[in-house]
Amino acid sequence: MTAQQHIETLRQELRDHNYNYYVLDNATISDYDFDIKLKELQKLEDKHPEFFDANSPTLRVGGAVTKNFETVMHEHRMYSLDNSYSLEDLQDWETRLKKLVDGDINYTCELKYDGASISLTYENGSLIKAVTRGDGFQGDNVTPNIKTIKSVPLQLKGNYPPKFDIRGEIVLPFEGFNKMNAERLEAGEEPYRNPRNTASGSLKLQDSAEVARRPLECLLYNLTGINLGVTSQSSSLELARQMGFKVPEASKLVNSIEAVFEFINYWDKERHNLPYETDGVVVKVNNLQQQEELGFTAKAPRWAMAYKFKAEQVSTKLIRIDYQVGRTGAITPVANLEPVELAGTTVKRASLHNADQIEKLDIRVGDEVFVEKGGEIIPKIIAVVNATNRPSDSVPTQYRTTCPECESELVRIEGEAKHYCPNVNGCNPQIIGRIQHYISRKAMDIEGLGGETVALLVNAGLITNYTDLYTLTKEDIMPLERMAEKSAENLVQGVEASKQIPFERVLFALGIRFVGETVAKKLAKHYKSIGAISSATLEELVAVDEIGIKIAQSVKDFFTDNSNVEMVSRLILCGVQLELSAEVLANQTETLKGDIVVVSGVFTQVSRTELKKLIEDNGGKVSSSISSKTSYIVAGDKMGPSKLEKAEKLGVLVISEQDFLDKLN
Ligand code: AMP
Ligand code: ZN
Repeated sequence: MTAQQHIETLRQELRDHNYNYYVLDNATISDYDFDIKLKELQKLEDKHPEFFDANSPTLRVGGAVTKNFETVMHEHRMYSLDNSYSLEDLQDWETRLKKLVDGDINYTCELKYDGASISLTYENGSLIKAVTRGDGFQGDNVTPNIKTIKSVPLQLKGNYPPKFDIRGEIVLPFEGFNKMNAERLEAGEEPYRNPRNTASGSLKLQDSAEVARRPLECLLYNLTGINLGVTSQSSSLELARQMGFKVPEASKLVNSIEAVFEFINYWDKERHNLPYETDGVVVKVNNLQQQEELGFTAKAPRWAMAYKFKAEQVSTKLIRIDYQVGRTGAITPVANLEPVELAGTTVKRASLHNADQIEKLDIRVGDEVFVEKGGEIIPKIIAVVNATNRPSDSVPTQYRTTCPECESELVRIEGEAKHYCPNVNGCNPQIIGRIQHYISRKAMDIEGLGGETVALLVNAGLITNYTDLYTLTKEDIMPLERMAEKSAENLVQGVEASKQIPFERVLFALGIRFVGETVAKKLAKHYKSIGAISSATLEELVAVDEIGIKIAQSVKDFFTDNSNVEMVSRLILCGVQLELSAEVLANQTETLKGDIVVVSGVFTQVSRTELKKLIEDNGGKVSSSISSKTSYIVAGDKMGPSKLEKAEKLGVLVISEQDFLDKLN
């Protein structure tokens, strides 16, 4: 088998596995084996750049960074939909339809997926571009981001029309959404409000590698183009499925408005069992000939109608408002409700967000309140029932002024919605929360120590911050409840092993507000040691790529607090890694300091990713677009002609891969 054949076979194999897993939900290979094959393909592609394919499965991991998304016209306008709310509305619609077309009318009923709409263009079976809806006439070209979504086929199967557009919705299933939020909470960040906004926000991220990490899905519902060889909506959905698109099976062909209504009633309940959000049903005239006769109004097709589900609401009594303290000291008010059934689950608690929200709705203990389960996972209180009929002794809620745990006076920072308990070092949930964060999997990953044990240790007075972990002995721990000798040993060993954890993770573990995993990596790489970070000025911090004022200020605040400085010194004494290791540093130089480099084309000696890493490790900055600021372009084979032209116009130096490697040595 030639290398080219080998590459092609692997690509096809990986495409099939991808399809089975992401479109059919039916895994045909283990994750491990998939990775092995993907790596094998990556290696071959690196070795044979001449067989580059923009739609190779290796490119699904993203990497391209887009600063400004290009605006492009839609070849076929993306319309909105008219809305209906009752059976009567739908019957009226049918009456209008019957005046405009002859013959029987059949309908396809589809779920209305709640995400961000997208238009995909395919030519000769390959994905050419992906454009957001925008204003319906033109949208943003977000192709690099869309390519990372595994249920979007990059290469079609079976028989496909030579050129067409297909429309669909990018959604973020609940499971992935919850996972992302758990990670954000761990990093001390505000959780995302709902899957829909998170999905549409994801499409506009500049870094496609970040999009690749988000578990987005693409559900398709409409084919447009000429000579598609289909005569009905239902058969076009079937064709889309055969080409490899994910078209949910729920869609159904029916022959009367009454049957449409049955479909609506069924899904109004069943939708709560779906893995992603739906906010209604879309009914479409099935026959494409009839669709054409019906045409469009100024904003929507006459042949389609959306039916919006009502967000489920119930009323119940507000028993009490609790206040929770997070590890950063943020206070969250939580409503305790008389238990009530809502959208298939029993609801006992609801989020109240913050003081403003309580004041705005004038929510008081004892009130009968409306609770709604909308896009958010945690139900929320949306209104008070019959507020005018309150008993005469009812008084407005006074938001707590002191911490429920330590009684410190709460503070509220200008411009922030939340109250904070400032007693950082004396407030139990904050103390415990910070240590729990320190030992967590993505931070120090201390084996043999879990969140509950941390609470035990703190409450027994054995530790008050994470540096105390390093002086714990087996004898200290053994008297604790449920602590056998073996587990005490494991704990001490786990703590010892954490001294090997690399600097960037230690930096994340410290629990500096807004310094999540990615920011910690950036800072570690840039400053190389905790000393350098702590002495950086606000201006210097902000000058680091992707570090904003909020993060910079928080870093400064952290090191202004003497107790933090002391803890860091103690960690250094204990032998925790608070600078990049010699090994990592050995590969880093300042040779390219100040250079802004654009990489273009395919390379033979190092891969594109390695090349970028080399630039960054040696103090340079990688940029994705050529401008007058570009220092030079490293050009491999097949550098795009438009880039070359731009480089010439701006007089930017173009150097070869070899020139670049020579420069480094
Ligand atoms: P609206 O934004 O309320 O005007 O509703 C129109 C949007 O619904 C379209 O732009 C699509 O993004 C979305 N949508 C979701 N599911 C479907 C579907 N099955 N058919 C058509 N549009 C859909
Ligand atoms: Zn407190």
